[in-house]
Amino acid sequence: MSDSLFADASRRLERALKYVSLSEDTIERLKYPKSSLIVSIPVRMDDGSLRIFQGYRVRYDDTRGPTKGGVRYHPKVSLDEVQSLAFWMTFKCAVLNLPFGGAKGGITLNPKELSKLELERLSRGYVDAIADFIGPDVDIPAPDVYTNPMIMGWMMDQYNIIKRQLSPAVVTGKPVTIGGSLGRETATATGAFFVIQTLLPKFKRIPSETTVAVQGFGNAGAELAELLWKAGYKVVAVSDSQGGIYAKQGLDIPSIRRFKDANKGIKAIYCEGSVCNIVEHEILTNEQLLELDVDVLIPAALENQITEANVNDVKAKFIFEVANGPIDSAADLILEARGIQVIPDILVNAGGVTVSYFEWVQNRCGLYWTLGEVNQRLQHKMVEETEAIWKKSEELSVCMRTAAYVYGLHRLGAAMNAKGTRDYYVNG
Ligand code: GLU
Repeated sequence: MSDSLFADASRRLERALKYVSLSEDTIERLKYPKSSLIVSIPVRMDDGSLRIFQGYRVRYDDTRGPTKGGVRYHPKVSLDEVQSLAFWMTFKCAVLNLPFGGAKGGITLNPKELSKLELERLSRGYVDAIADFIGPDVDIPAPDVYTNPMIMGWMMDQYNIIKRQLSPAVVTGKPVTIGGSLGRETATATGAFFVIQTLLPKFKRIPSETTVAVQGFGNAGAELAELLWKAGYKVVAVSDSQGGIYAKQGLDIPSIRRFKDANKGIKAIYCEGSVCNIVEHEILTNEQLLELDVDVLIPAALENQITEANVNDVKAKFIFEVANGPIDSAADLILEARGIQVIPDILVNAGGVTVSYFEWVQNRCGLYWTLGEVNQRLQHKMVEETEAIWKKSEELSVCMRTAAYVYGLHRLGAAMNAKGTRDYYVNG
């Protein structure tokens, strides 16, 4: 792909704009992030040396509320990527009608190379650097790729030390013992499961006759694979960053999860571990997984996995985007022309930020919900907004992605108009 991720992400907006009448002011404002911060974070390493890490936080738009979005630790983190992710968060929060705008953060590093103490110093250093940019009413970080509740706990603690007050609502996805919400860790997968269960019956699909491949066996992908397996779907392939496995008759997901936790890689499990004997299987690469002849493909890893280069090899009938931005805009058009149903990231993976919103609400009122209450509220929101977007796509005869953008744009446009002065100037 020659142009930037952000330029490509903006193309989805351009497509959707044809179906909404928005003021020029709104369109113009949505093209630019509100503010972007680049920071250098000095970290004392365990061997006594000093290393400087590059970090980012982008607040894309705050018309609908404080900005919200995760922090990613990955070697490929860049300003372009963080801006795109913040843009997607803006639409995700609007699509789910959460009272938040969109943001994202990141640090460019390979977290697997750092010790736990180095990671803690880095996470606290990041908060030192962005403390004036965040806050429970301003911008609220959360976990993303390679960050977790432990890191969120350090971040909240560091913010509280700086502010000399207890503000649990400054970060979501914290450990439950210090104000995290029950159900937050499984929320992205659970939300995606509700979307799948709402949409597949519309195509007369039943779980036992539906094959599934999941790319990415991290927090979201592994949990979702298990939920689908429990519901009777035939999960035939899963992969992680090192590679994957395929078994025509279906995989036993819980045992793969157990072995992956013990051996830190799916490939290792199947090559050397005792699971080798459980099922007949084949080893495959991440690229091969995307091209499998399955009913449902679930990219749950990183951006730009399906592009013009491999889109014609994709054989799945449905793609549910659990990762952010796994399909680029050129591939999108080809998939649509080939009649492949793509259900977009800003809906499918919105369960995470939805339970983050619940966590923020619980922190602010000091009343904590049971897991049952959290999941019931999550189900209600996911099903309601999925049905509404489905209806919109039928009404406008557009794909689910454009319908989701149109739907989010209505909410964003209405909020911008309610705050703006354009009418005053235009109508005298
Ligand atoms: N990182 C997640 C996402 O991309 C969650 C964000 C949040 O909870 O604020 O949606």
